[in-house]
Amino acid sequence: MQYDILTLFPEMFTGVLGNSILKKAAEKKLVSYNIVDFRDFSENKHQRVDDYPYGGGGGMVLTPQPIFDALDHVTQKINTNKRKVILLCPQGERYTQKKAEELAQCEQLIFICGHYEGYDERIREHLVTDEISIGDYVLTGGELGAMVIIDSVTRLLTGVLGNETSAVTDSFSTGLLEYPHYTRPVDFRGLKVPDVLISGHHKKIEEWRHKEALKRTFKRRPDLLEDRELSEKEKAWLQSEELSCDE
Ligand code: SAM
Repeated sequence: MQYDILTLFPEMFTGVLGNSILKKAAEKKLVSYNIVDFRDFSENKHQRVDDYPYGGGGGMVLTPQPIFDALDHVTQKINTNKRKVILLCPQGERYTQKKAEELAQCEQLIFICGHYEGYDERIREHLVTDEISIGDYVLTGGELGAMVIIDSVTRLLTGVLGNETSAVTDSFSTGLLEYPHYTRPVDFRGLKVPDVLISGHHKKIEEWRHKEALKRTFKRRPDLLEDRELSEKEKAWLQSEELSCDE
């Protein structure tokens, strides 16, 4: 996966991309990061990248020229049609694990990180394949959003996580929130690990995890269950959960 990040603040990425799994993924050559300061592409003699909005109003708007040219530069370098050009934007589609899975199928992801009041609409109309928001709030710039997407996509790429199953059972990947985890000791200050987990009975452990994941999702994120067809067994688990909540 080739990541190209068009930003005015390249240093913001140093800590995040230079640590932990994102760093290791690059060392293993599973991903490559190219951070492009699009100010370098400005044809303005003072290297300006923004201007006042036509029609008046507050805030500055990113001009099209530096971003169009920076994008030409990064698309010329790699020949693929498995490419997305992502505009980080509070008005975009809300980011989900499903979207992360879709993006993980690409070979090149290009991020345009906005700043200031916004960007010239021609950028949105003519360059971008996907507009993504990382939540219903407004950030100062698109950089944090790009980092969120890069992190969540990279961990889905084959070979990035040591144990492939850890991404498969993560919350949302299964359509449910993940089940609870326990580790040593069995008894910590009188707080015990559920017996089933130390029983060595794999089928029962699997069933317990499934039930706990379902119960947790039902309690915390019932919206995730709306389109899910439940088995009779699952319905019975949830009914007993409802009864215990009512008590
Ligand atoms: N005036 C814009 C509006 O109301 O839609 C907000 C501009 S915001 C201050 C500056 C930049 O931060 C945006 O261009 C976008 O790149 C980024 N940004 C802000 N909130 C975001 C969010 N929730 N998700 C992704 N990017 C966001």
